[in-house]
Amino acid sequence: MTIKTILTEPNKILRQVSIPVTKVGKEEKILMNDMLETMYDANGIGLAAIQIGVPKRIIVMDISNKDKEKKPMYFVNPIIKNKNSDHATYEEGCLSVPNQFAEINRPSTCEVEYLDYNGDKKVLKASGLLATCIQHEMDHLEGILFIDYLSKLKKMMIVKKLSKQKNKVDRIVV
Ligand code: ZN
Repeated sequence: MTIKTILTEPNKILRQVSIPVTKVGKEEKILMNDMLETMYDANGIGLAAIQIGVPKRIIVMDISNKDKEKKPMYFVNPIIKNKNSDHATYEEGCLSVPNQFAEINRPSTCEVEYLDYNGDKKVLKASGLLATCIQHEMDHLEGILFIDYLSKLKKMMIVKKLSKQKNKVDRIVV
């Protein structure tokens, strides 16, 4: 398994719409293994393939308690069905928007159809943190980041901050 570089806003690749996977083969499994390793290394609970620059509709997640046994989840070509009209609010962050957090409102439960690590079709009824996390990750497949739900001004401030961090160079006096 290889730890990959996680792309951060304002990298334009993050805005690409990811493409469905035709089959879960060896290449996809290697990708999922690398994604999981990268996610754990960055202390995240979810990662979409596009966040490491691969525009495939693949997500990995692990929302289990850090101190306990790891419970990785793999979602290939996920489709959301039956979103609840009730909403829940979580303070969200994102590995592609480092050190920035905001309260985001999303449907509190949803059903997800997807292929698992072995390419088998599955349906998951998600609620709580799991429902929020899967919706956040699925936004990545459409090129959407959580900051897109914020006001223009708030979003601009975050993007500006991130751009500054990126352009930071060492100052030398000679
Ligand atoms: Zn994210």
